[in-house]
Amino acid sequence: MTFKTTILTLFPDAFPGVLGASIIGRGLETGAWSLETVHLRQFGEGKHKNVDDTPAGGGAGMVMRPDVIGAAIDSVPLQGRPLLYMSPRGKTLTQARVRELSAGPGVVMLCGRFEGLDERVIEARGMEEVSIGDYVLAGGEVAAQVLLEACVRLLPGVAGNAESLTHESFETGLLEHPQYTRPRTWEGHDIPDVLLSGDHKKIEEWRRSQAEALTKARRPDLYAAFQNTVATRARPES
Ligand code: SAM
Repeated sequence: MTFKTTILTLFPDAFPGVLGASIIGRGLETGAWSLETVHLRQFGEGKHKNVDDTPAGGGAGMVMRPDVIGAAIDSVPLQGRPLLYMSPRGKTLTQARVRELSAGPGVVMLCGRFEGLDERVIEARGMEEVSIGDYVLAGGEVAAQVLLEACVRLLPGVAGNAESLTHESFETGLLEHPQYTRPRTWEGHDIPDVLLSGDHKKIEEWRRSQAEALTKARRPDLYAAFQNTVATRARPES
């Protein structure tokens, strides 16, 4: 089944962009996912095809008009796909949400510009606001590409080694352990002996303890959630 994506944007030329490269680009060629862009300008108002206007109540910048954006959204058959608005006010994207989305039929995404969208169209069309982090970009196109890349690499047949996906950061609730490759010694630094021991059980234990230590040091929030999950799993059912 093809993961169908439709992007509503003022910059359709920004796509596929980096998504045309490497495994994600190959996935597009082989039909693992499809990409359609809808140019918001074609729904613009008047001679100049305006898509934005000044903010009600005054203030800096421009706001995307609800009539224009509403018409653009209504031109796209959702076909069971969630309608996402890339927005710094949204819920921050997580690997768990990426997994859910990639298991579905695809996504329809609106890329904002200027000061963002008129609130009424967000509410009226039941858009899910998704943020890629606590910082502000100039537009939603890069954010949409981040979400797409994260989803598409999980689709069957896209990543060469599907097993490698299950050991990655966030998949186990922990950050990934450190990785090494040849040469064995580089600038006086050796690969840890255990990784060259051939003892798979010891290697697994070492990787696990490194992942835990790293997560505890760098992401105490993740580590607390991980410990909670482990404790819940260990608790006998009443
Ligand atoms: N005035 C808005 C605010 O303060 O929340 C920021 C608007 S931003 C300049 C323009 C557009 O970039 C947004 O409508 C959104 O589509 C996109 N954008 C900016 N930061 C983002 C983020 N962290 N995650 C997802 N989209 C973002």
